[in-house]
Amino acid sequence: MNRKLLYVDAIVDYRGVVASPGAVLKEGNTILAVGTPQEIGTPENAPLTQSEGIITPTFVNTHAHLDLSGRGNVPAKSSFLEWVREVVLPIRRDEEGIQNAVHAGIKLIHAGGSAIVGDIAGSIKAASTAQASARFIISYVEFLESAKELCAMQQLLQELPEAFDVSPHAPYSCGAHTYEAAFASNRKVATHVAETLEEIEYTLHKTGPIAAFEKQIGVWNEQEKPWGMHPVDIGLSAANGKPFIAAHVHYIEDRHLDMLADSLCTVAYCPRASEYFGHTNHRWQEMVDAGVRVSIGTDSLLCLDTPDRISVIDELRLLYRRDNADPRLLMKMGTTAGAIGVGVDPSLVAVAPGETAGLLLFNSMAGDPVHAIMNSTEMPVWL
Ligand SMILES: [Zn+2]
Repeated sequence: MNRKLLYVDAIVDYRGVVASPGAVLKEGNTILAVGTPQEIGTPENAPLTQSEGIITPTFVNTHAHLDLSGRGNVPAKSSFLEWVREVVLPIRRDEEGIQNAVHAGIKLIHAGGSAIVGDIAGSIKAASTAQASARFIISYVEFLESAKELCAMQQLLQELPEAFDVSPHAPYSCGAHTYEAAFASNRKVATHVAETLEEIEYTLHKTGPIAAFEKQIGVWNEQEKPWGMHPVDIGLSAANGKPFIAAHVHYIEDRHLDMLADSLCTVAYCPRASEYFGHTNHRWQEMVDAGVRVSIGTDSLLCLDTPDRISVIDELRLLYRRDNADPRLLMKMGTTAGAIGVGVDPSLVAVAPGETAGLLLFNSMAGDPVHAIMNSTEMPVWL
């Protein structure tokens, strides 16, 4: 029996402050009891550790690219497409480096306080490496149709091991049949949606920089008609009521607020990656107010300002500082909203009796514990 009793200054999860002072009785990955030290007392066979600190659950990262963790941080380029061409494509061609990059990514995710990750895997090899190395990784194997053979998606799905999920890359790189096949597969689906204004121009009219880029890299298809739709409409109509993760969603029209709220879509907002690519005024707060489930992703290490970690906590702190966000809402976005988004039981990221995906201990600071977590610049330790 490996029981542990922890007394701390406070316990915080998606509900805000659960107990202050707080006590947790756990055994392995199971929380047996949570409350104040007075309520929990000192059960037998449970050595007591008393810490100054705040316990939270592990955080959920709903949009990462572990296989892009090999190069560290990279300065931003003048355009997204230039970045894809000069930074991402060479990494994708380096088959050898993929395993090392995924292993590095998992370490960095762990250092950043997340145990549950929605990972966009650029290859089956990347997905297999990730799945073999960590417990709660949801591997969305990415499909870019501009790699292009029309039946390639169906073929990929047939060959794809059951444990893997799927990610049609984006409405500008995948066509209707690719999205249909992805949703018909009954696997979990994640996709990039409305990441750039160029994408909207391309899906509506098939013109602009993405069209030029396709011609340049030799994947332009003259016969193929434009979608004639906004990327959010493409995602929602392809999903047809099924759940999926829509990463970024930088540009929406007002009508999309209710449409997203009425759907089972979870938005994976990646605040630092968004700033890195020069996007401003993300409507995440309006989305939340309208009832949209907004979760937090980090995107790849390439876009981050933290070489030593890939952390949802850094993203939440940015929203707290920059957007004056309610820290309780941030706790929810960083934990249970994300768990629902990637299709994992949200109770795994609550500090409540039952199985836990992991617990973290933050250093205590003065004042309200939820604000203290967001005000701090320190990373927590794992319990
Ligand atoms: Zn991404």
